[in-house]
Amino acid sequence: MANEYDLVILGGGTGGYVAAIRASQLGLKTAIVEKGKLGGTCLHNGCIPSKALLRSAEVYSTAKRSEDFGVLAKDVSFDFGKIQERKNSIVGQLHKGVQYLMKKGKIDVFEGEGRILGPSIFSPIPGTISVEMNNGEENEMLIPKNVIVSTGSRPNTLPGLEIDGKFIISSEEALKLQELPKSILIVGGGVIGVEWASMLADFDVDVTLIEYSDTIIPAEDKEIRLELKKQLEKKGVKVVTGAKVLPDTLEKNEHVTVQAEIKGEKVFFAGEKLLVSVGRTGNVEGLGLENTEIVVSNNSIQVNENFQTKESHIYAIGDVIGGLQLAHVASHEGIKAVEHIAGLQPERLEYEKIAKCIYTSPEIASIGYTEEEAIEKGFTVKKGKFSFQAVGKALVYGEQEGFVKIIADSQTDDILGVHIIGPHATDMISEAALAATLDAAPWEIGATIHPHPTLSEAIGEAALAVDGKEIHG
Ligand code: FAD
Repeated sequence: MANEYDLVILGGGTGGYVAAIRASQLGLKTAIVEKGKLGGTCLHNGCIPSKALLRSAEVYSTAKRSEDFGVLAKDVSFDFGKIQERKNSIVGQLHKGVQYLMKKGKIDVFEGEGRILGPSIFSPIPGTISVEMNNGEENEMLIPKNVIVSTGSRPNTLPGLEIDGKFIISSEEALKLQELPKSILIVGGGVIGVEWASMLADFDVDVTLIEYSDTIIPAEDKEIRLELKKQLEKKGVKVVTGAKVLPDTLEKNEHVTVQAEIKGEKVFFAGEKLLVSVGRTGNVEGLGLENTEIVVSNNSIQVNENFQTKESHIYAIGDVIGGLQLAHVASHEGIKAVEHIAGLQPERLEYEKIAKCIYTSPEIASIGYTEEEAIEKGFTVKKGKFSFQAVGKALVYGEQEGFVKIIADSQTDDILGVHIIGPHATDMISEAALAATLDAAPWEIGATIHPHPTLSEAIGEAALAVDGKEIHG
């Protein structure tokens, strides 16, 4: 059977389902094809389940030091089965929410694997979607005027450290663990690696974090990187940088053992499990891209600033186009693509103003350039920094580690970057994102009255500090 649509979206993750909702708002007849579960990686294998586990780790770690708050909780322990149940129930609830939104928007959902066909009896141009239905029924043929490819990404692997699900795992298997290992080696100190290191250390797991480059989270500001390293080490994480893991030394017996080369010396590491977190790669295979003019480079679909591929009626968004692989980036790319399809001429997505968050404890969040990048780009930089040690609410919370750092252009007073490490950093960064969107100068953030006592006072003070006017510093 053939069905005609204004828009067919291939992949119902955060990018795809949000695009579908926006398309329905704009009156486009829309279908979404999803081979797994609506909500995709973020909801089922990424953001939400990992943050649910992180929250349990945070509660446990706070409970262990409850005496600091004058609260006497004896024999604090945790039940990992219940923690997993809580995580699954949150995911289940949100999954139902997405399904409801599809119904509300009258978006047709095809549960199956979609593939783009070349010119055929259905259409003279590429873009007809053939769906191999999950229920084994006959393939559906969808004939769209436009297509959005939002098929997401999957974990990268390291040759010689292939995922076996038992000793060697990726974040996908880690999220489904039924019990925690006593010790773990984490290979890769990017965002996912440090989040797992922080969480597992909070759950009393003996963690060794092994990173190839000379720093963890290399994309962050240097001062933030150093502070996170200090905080992870305080939790007991062994942070090893400049270490090249040697896969041919891998052994799996009762433990996983592997050697790494550090400054020319071979060093031996052992853990009950080894978590590989070395980035993600776009899902470009099996989509029928070879039936089109679409260009793929480094496993990412190439698009223009409106998210059009070389086939102007086929768009691509989210993790599959590479760049910032974040859920809110995927959804906003989806919205822009749909608005372009609807002829609304949306403005360019300003990636430098998008917040990036890391849910370690303490949390990290940033917008814009790091200090090093700003200097490299030739800006004359002025900066303000304010520590949570001097913020009343942080002391009340018992979470006074970290700081806010604001970097500005001393010639134009433009905000170049805001970097936070500390309590609730990921919630607070939106103030900085809004300021950047409105082209506010640091003094305007400083002139905004931040209520007392709040953690956000650290942002106000850091903004004042850019011009040497902080009150409590
Ligand atoms: P996805 O969410 O991957 O969705 C793609 C969908 O396409 C999938 O459901 C897949 O089944 C489907 N699909 C693929 N091929 C086909 C096909 N041929 N036919 C039909 N369907 C198909 N981001 C954040 O912003 N914040 C976080 O805290 C965060 N935490 C993360 C933690 C982890 C452990 C991981 C792995 C990722 C995390 N991310 C986070 C990243 C975030 O999950 C992704 O950026 C986001 O999911 C990308 O959305 P997407 O729509 O591009 O792709």
